[in-house]
Amino acid sequence: MSELHNLSVKALATLLQTKEVSAVEVATRFLARMGGNPHNAFLDIDSEVTLAQARASDAKLADGTAGPLEGVPVAHKDVFVTRDFATTAGSKILSGYRSPFDATVVQRLRTAGMVTLGKLNCDEFAMGSANENSAYGPVQNPWDTARVPGGSSGGSAAAVAAGLAPAATGTDTGGSIRQPASFCGITGIKPTYGRASRYGMIAYASSLDQAGPMARSAEDCALLLSPMCGADLDRDSTSLDMPSEDFAASLNNSIEGLRIGIPKEFFGEGLAADVRAAVDGALREYEKLGAKLVPISLPRTELSIPVYYIIAPAEASSNLSRFDGVKFGHRAKDYTDLVDMYKKTRAEGFGNEVKRRIMTGAYVLSHGYYDAYYLQAQKIRRMIADDFQNAFKECDVIAGPVAPSVAWKFGENAGDPVADYLADIFTLPASLAGLPGMSLPAGFGAQGMPVGLQLIGNYFKEAQLLNAAHLLQQATDFHLRKPEGI
Ligand code: GLN
Repeated sequence: MSELHNLSVKALATLLQTKEVSAVEVATRFLARMGGNPHNAFLDIDSEVTLAQARASDAKLADGTAGPLEGVPVAHKDVFVTRDFATTAGSKILSGYRSPFDATVVQRLRTAGMVTLGKLNCDEFAMGSANENSAYGPVQNPWDTARVPGGSSGGSAAAVAAGLAPAATGTDTGGSIRQPASFCGITGIKPTYGRASRYGMIAYASSLDQAGPMARSAEDCALLLSPMCGADLDRDSTSLDMPSEDFAASLNNSIEGLRIGIPKEFFGEGLAADVRAAVDGALREYEKLGAKLVPISLPRTELSIPVYYIIAPAEASSNLSRFDGVKFGHRAKDYTDLVDMYKKTRAEGFGNEVKRRIMTGAYVLSHGYYDAYYLQAQKIRRMIADDFQNAFKECDVIAGPVAPSVAWKFGENAGDPVADYLADIFTLPASLAGLPGMSLPAGFGAQGMPVGLQLIGNYFKEAQLLNAAHLLQQATDFHLRKPEGI
């Protein structure tokens, strides 16, 4: 059974249900692979906790009370709070923090039977596009360890790509599921804003934050997304009052006649030739499957960058005010009075990018600048959402690149935060509109690095996206390719 780590979520679930393999065996195999923390993907591992969960899953499999994913391992981005593992959000300010409860998403996946392998590295408070902003060091891309895995869910993407976990959770505020999935050659989906509960997901920009699954295939993502979604009205006021769906049920529907909108703004000058070639190849496959490509326009695509980088920091500056050394996390040792304690705690605890966002956010919300920046950004955000609704009059799904280039080398953008911001151009629009979006492997670009195809759907059309992604994955094998030695 040396290949257990290369099996899909679906295959593992089947082997577990038919008792060909036990949850303890599966967990042991993954824990062995995680030894030495390859790629610096994990921030907390506790084999005792994992094995105890696996034993509990085996008991349920034995007595007939097993959930659909009983015994299948999952690892969680360190932005989800967990009772049994430390939670840091990649920040020094939460070093060693233990939550008294599990995030709703964590708890629901456990109820479905999943066994937690540990907590995954990420950019500090999910702010970043390369995982270079983690206080605990960067994550390496398993396809080329000199390159970034993408961010902010870089640990999640690297862990799945390297066979350290069959699936992982991620969070996506402006692309943090889709872009690392693209950079590491895996599949990830961000559902419609509000479909998955944000309870216990450490807040970055609350009007944008969404949880979602990351795995090798659309089918595996569908299997995790079903338990992750669903109303949580008492605990997350923005949770949608709508039940989850069996996303795996509609994966094989025909896409004959599906109208795929191709936004011209996603194929402009800044798009690298290798990415364009891979994305074009995937679009040709869709034509073979009977879909129709329809040219569309999302005219405010470029504006999504300034709009996002006003709204997200504004919300972050408010959300992060809770980290002040009083209730939890790091507290400075020497201080003269309360204000001095706040200042020193935050100066010591936060990294540079987080400080930059807090300052930007406080600035755009301050008297005199609120109208000029924040209010304008909110208005344009609404127009961006309207542009999508106009586009969806002509098409069912929108397709394009996830990012303008393949994963870059460590240090390439260092010292230039704006370079990272600009690279978010294709993922930010769907986030600002609250639409579901996904990334799936579309081929390989320069130096053999993976390229992702982005699919964006209208509100609540996750099933349609997963269906379209699954059919492409039935026709291609990009999602099955693995970095050398995995
Ligand atoms: N790169 C974007 C940012 O830094 C998006 C991050 C995210 O989706 N969490 O804010």
